[in-house]
Amino acid sequence: MKLNRFKDGKKFAITLSYDDGNIADRRLVKIFNDNGLKATFNLNSSRFDDGDVVSSKEISTLYKGHEIACHCFSHPHLERLPLSEQNFEIYEDKKRLEQLTGYIVRGFAYPYGSYSKDTETVLKANGICYARTTVSGNFFFPADFLYWNSTCHHLNFDRYYESFKAMQDQKWQFGSVFYIWGHSYEFDRNNNWDLAERMSKSLSEFKDAWFCTNIELYDYATAQKNLVFSADNSTVFNNSLHDIWITGDSGDVIKLDAGKTTRIK
Ligand SMILES: [Zn+2]
Repeated sequence: MKLNRFKDGKKFAITLSYDDGNIADRRLVKIFNDNGLKATFNLNSSRFDDGDVVSSKEISTLYKGHEIACHCFSHPHLERLPLSEQNFEIYEDKKRLEQLTGYIVRGFAYPYGSYSKDTETVLKANGICYARTTVSGNFFFPADFLYWNSTCHHLNFDRYYESFKAMQDQKWQFGSVFYIWGHSYEFDRNNNWDLAERMSKSLSEFKDAWFCTNIELYDYATAQKNLVFSADNSTVFNNSLHDIWITGDSGDVIKLDAGKTTRIK
């Protein structure tokens, strides 16, 4: 049996991550919604209501159905701050985002992709489950979710799209993730909203993909990792709140109900 399926037995997962909460998010969210895509938006709560940043009043409606995650209170270079200041940046952002969204915020993206060796401790102290870097180049889950590298920045979408598409046809073995990141204001700056449209439409056409936010993917991966197997692998206990899908020995897709024990052989 293989732990290689996503929600509803899908073979692939597609997730997006956009930073800084520029008002261009309004246009981008609409494009994502029109195409059935799910994204995570990493926000700096000290910047709301200021110039070209989204307003605190629109947070809960604009990003409905997507995930809101921390990106620090004021977008600092974390590695240049003492630990107490790093803690303030993450704690304060998380607290304010939770007040605005009404849910527990658990995701994070490193501002400028930078951190010190102690940042991990601060993230853990604040209950942050995963943190996205600015390193790209693969279609796999990270070994450590506090250093989650993406597949590509959206400017490199075309190249990685071809590789991802090729995977759909090859002899398939492992669940793969197409993870794209960027900033919505880049589409304004580079005058290339056609890329946002084309990218979203192309992604929406993948039939065997689960479209999810970062935290949905994290929760699924964690629940899958925590499955409990009998010694002879005939029985599995899914001790999580999430239904999990796996591939059985004969290639069949098996659903493991949340909180239940399932006989798989
Ligand atoms: Zn940023």
